[in-house]
Amino acid sequence: MTYVERVLDELKKKNPNEPEFHQAATEILTSLEPVVEKHPEYEANALLERFVEPERVIMFRVPWTDDNGKVHVNKGYRVEFNSAIGPYKGGLRFHPTVNLSIIKFLGFEQILKNSLTGLPIGGGKGGSDFDPKGKSDREVMNFCQSFMTELCRHIGPDTDVPAGDIGVGGREIGYLFGQYKRIRDEHTGVLTGRGLSYGGSLARTEATGYGLVYITEEALKMRGDSFEGKTVVISGSGNVAIYACQKAQQLGANVVAMYDSNGYVYDPEGIKLDIIQDIKEVKRGRIKEYAQRVKSATYTEGCKGIWGIKCDIALPCATQNEIDLESAEKLIANGVKYVSEGANMPSTLDAIDAFQKAGVVFIPAKAANAGGVGVSALEMAQSSQRIFWTFEEVDAKLKNIMVNIYHNMDDAAKEYGYEGNYVMGANIAGFMKVADAMMAHGIV
Ligand code: NDP
Repeated sequence: MTYVERVLDELKKKNPNEPEFHQAATEILTSLEPVVEKHPEYEANALLERFVEPERVIMFRVPWTDDNGKVHVNKGYRVEFNSAIGPYKGGLRFHPTVNLSIIKFLGFEQILKNSLTGLPIGGGKGGSDFDPKGKSDREVMNFCQSFMTELCRHIGPDTDVPAGDIGVGGREIGYLFGQYKRIRDEHTGVLTGRGLSYGGSLARTEATGYGLVYITEEALKMRGDSFEGKTVVISGSGNVAIYACQKAQQLGANVVAMYDSNGYVYDPEGIKLDIIQDIKEVKRGRIKEYAQRVKSATYTEGCKGIWGIKCDIALPCATQNEIDLESAEKLIANGVKYVSEGANMPSTLDAIDAFQKAGVVFIPAKAANAGGVGVSALEMAQSSQRIFWTFEEVDAKLKNIMVNIYHNMDDAAKEYGYEGNYVMGANIAGFMKVADAMMAHGIV
């Protein structure tokens, strides 16, 4: 058994019933084989054993009261995974599927993603199995206040800086920040994704979606191509999906399909994003309504069929494991050339393998969606200095971050003899900086 195999084996034994964490750890550690071979000092210092073990896991009770006076109890989590290169940083997810395995997989991925941005941020993630869908604003506020009453003991602008994720948007961040400020009596950059009136950064809302398109644009450019005239399929219709669609359209692409968790809309004439935004951002409604409002569109119940639509570029932007092998094979058969992951771990391991074997340019989430956390770190920088940059300044820095990520992962893949394999490239490039810092800190 190799060092990596032994660590993975041990990890599965020590953490049973955490399939998503096993999946992420397998993908990451397997690609680090050539690195640990080159650096025997890592094994001698049990670096991987320490790398896969979170520095701290916080789990807590979140009691709250609904509009009818009924008391509910949810689970709250914060996994402070690795602070070798900076304070823990990563989003909070509120979704009924949230459990420890999912938070650990997300936190683990986040370490390398944050490192890839080139900014001084460690990795963490948190959330709750609370479902904001169908709740009144007052109920969401009650929940957020209760959640922060416990979380505020563990976070701080130089310790751990959470942000949004699925189910945590501007409204939730506002309530969470309000409660933190009230208890701790400080107005600091403790959360990112804040509103512009209380310390937020311009372009944070757009950052993940725009960044996804910028890194894909760089990959296209390096191959003498561009978004102009390309057919694009985007899954999801939340924050990442909407702004990926907006930027892709600005660059001349034809985005033909999007979905929410009930089903997908196909509009061969091109998605009218203002209508999607009205349905999803303003009314918090269902995407089905799009087909009722736009003549050229059709609606299909269920999500999976979206991957059967012919496209040049697929941007999965909803959730983990939304592209399985069968969907990947459909995309490949229809001639897809680029798959860039806006969501975290949207492709299963066998789907990734199929893309790579078919020569599809595959950009994994930790590189492709790093724009969100990149601009979050820029928000932290602005907060510390008590200054605000213009939209154009932040957008230019975001583009620069994404272009750098592309070249760092491309170079790392080449250096280790895996040209064009961006799973290897992103994992190696992200890991090296964290490993250097961990070695420098001694056995901690
Ligand atoms: P949102 O909550 O804004 O949107 C999520 C979208 O995905 C919605 O359209 C939702 O549908 C759909 N969705 C969620 N779960 C499922 C499911 N099980 N099956 C089908 N569709 C589903 O989240 P974000 O856009 O912020 O996040 C999307 C992904 O991007 C996540 O993986 C997140 O971790 C990742 N990400 C987000 C970042 C950010 O800055 N926001 C940064 C980096 C990564 P419905 O409307 O029906 O709920």
